[in-house]
Amino acid sequence: MISEVLQKAINGQITAEMWSANLYLSMAFYLERQGFTGMAHWMKKQWEEENGHACQLAGYVISRGGKATVDKIDVVPVDFGSPLEVFEQVYKHECRVSGMIDALLDVAVAQKDKATQAFLWGFVEEQTEEEATASGIVDKLKIAGTSGLLQIDAQLGQR
Ligand code: MG
Repeated sequence: MISEVLQKAINGQITAEMWSANLYLSMAFYLERQGFTGMAHWMKKQWEEENGHACQLAGYVISRGGKATVDKIDVVPVDFGSPLEVFEQVYKHECRVSGMIDALLDVAVAQKDKATQAFLWGFVEEQTEEEATASGIVDKLKIAGTSGLLQIDAQLGQR
């Protein structure tokens, strides 16, 4: 059985993951409107992934006898600047999420809940990947400049 404290903290993370999903969907629409259909495709995959994280967290809470909830999701930005600026925001956002997962793990440690700690380590690893992927795209966009944008757009469309 999961503690009330942990249940509340994980439900908070479910809301955060759903906000992330909306952020990426908003970025997808923004990029699609500008003709970057490959980048928009990448963002939609990201959107799916974040929804998946929310469901994984909910499934875990339920498997431990807790109650998973869907809370109010705050509005997300709608304008993001150049493709490079969009992906810089992705990187910054993923670093923030890493901090949230770390804080969540701290709660599980404080609650002495080993199962939740084990479960959350998977998310810690996932965040390392997310950060590396986003910063890798930022690097590529910097190297490519404006002239290489369509090539990167095509690459990201392969995701
Ligand atoms: Mg996530």
